[in-house]
Amino acid sequence: MAIRTICFLAGVVLVMQPMPWAVAGWLMFVAAVFLPYIAVVIANAGVRKRARAHRPSVPRPADSSKALSSPRPIRSRAVADELTCSAKGCTAAATHQVLWNNPKLHTPDRRKTWMACDEHEESLRAFLGARGFWKETLPL
Ligand SMILES: [Zn+2]
Repeated sequence: MAIRTICFLAGVVLVMQPMPWAVAGWLMFVAAVFLPYIAVVIANAGVRKRARAHRPSVPRPADSSKALSSPRPIRSRAVADELTCSAKGCTAAATHQVLWNNPKLHTPDRRKTWMACDEHEESLRAFLGARGFWKETLPL
């Protein structure tokens, strides 16, 4: 610890000086002794502050399809609706996740997700595939 060393050396020099300086020298020794404790207290306070600032990140629900304007719009979904097919008017339970990416809007690693039932997986995939957006279909 560099500051501690400086305090100690300054103390050594100062205690050899006439009276007012000698007092400062002893204070330097005291500082050199207690600095590590002070540093620990400061470090702990910093850690606690950071821990409070950090909130556990909640995973976002699968992306809906709002970014893609399509001739057959996909109905908007609430989170409770998450496992229902994304095809318009379809209320069937989803059995597939169709993952896609629009290179004009998204970075290459970004994946948008459409939910699809058995019946609509193929048409959703074809719709995306025709635009070069389709990446993969995963079973649920
Ligand atoms: Zn469907």
